[in-house]
Amino acid sequence: VRLIDGRAHAAALAEGVSARAAALRAAGVVPALAVVVPTADEATAWYVRSLAKACARVGLECREHPVPEAGAGALPDRLAEVAADPAVHGVICQTPLPAGYRLEEVGALIPPAKDVDGANPTSLGRLAAGLPTYAPATAVAVVEILRREQVPLVGARVAVVGRSTVVGKPAALLLLAEHATVTVCHSRTRDLAAVTREADVVVAAVGRAGLLGADHVRPGAVVIDVGTNPTPDGGLTGDVDAAALAGTDGALTPVPGGVGPVTTMLLLAQTVAAAEALSRS
Ligand code: NAP
Repeated sequence: VRLIDGRAHAAALAEGVSARAAALRAAGVVPALAVVVPTADEATAWYVRSLAKACARVGLECREHPVPEAGAGALPDRLAEVAADPAVHGVICQTPLPAGYRLEEVGALIPPAKDVDGANPTSLGRLAAGLPTYAPATAVAVVEILRREQVPLVGARVAVVGRSTVVGKPAALLLLAEHATVTVCHSRTRDLAAVTREADVVVAAVGRAGLLGADHVRPGAVVIDVGTNPTPDGGLTGDVDAAALAGTDGALTPVPGGVGPVTTMLLLAQTVAAAEALSRS
């Protein structure tokens, strides 16, 4: 199997993002991403640090807003305050959320003009309706990688495994907009392998290490592995058993080094787009 180089795609995207950020700065606008962090989770802290580094590399300001475990209302108040700041162009809220909060409700507090990771249900609704909107960066990354790899999507059969609001559903909608014939699979799907084997492109977004093996993929298929599962040695592994696919035809995004870096850069690209749009209005 050929491994798709997500880091190279991210580096190519970074050039465009840097140029647009520099143009904004020259016009007196410092594009800024606000990251609301309502958790002390170590994996989240690691991700936020990597986001801050990526922002610095392309000329974005990254403003971290920790929300310590506090009484009810702290998170919504903080989100509203951050979102109202005119110097902030993109707002994201990290997970896991404190008990009592639902992702959809928290997302609804981010105004669509600053909703650069498509967390507001309005953004998902607009995506479903075919209206311009910010889609979740991970879902955009799936389509961006396929586009950059010149994988034909018009009329292609695509199986998306996973139907979450953050990945599976928006990825399916974006692929539908590219005129693919999309099948969405989930935990109740009967004979998953029989469905995914029919597909020219398989998108795995489940969160179970090695769920998809050689039996799930037909020769020549392109597999986009969104899964990020922690390994006992502190690393990451995907939803696809990469070793089982090693001798097969086709292409696969590795974990790490596949979807992740492209997702990060697209989040920053959407923040730059938001800064451009907000500074025009
Ligand atoms: P999620 O909300 O837990 O959703 C998982 C989905 O997988 C659900 O739709 C679930 O079905 C389905 N599923 C569970 N077991 C299954 C099985 N045995 N066969 C088929 N489908 C099954 O997870 P998520 O937030 O979408 O994230 C998915 C993965 O992507 C995770 O590993 C996450 O860490 C990773 N991720 C990566 C990035 C990145 O940038 N690389 C970004 C976000 C997420 P039901 O709906 O029936 O429960």
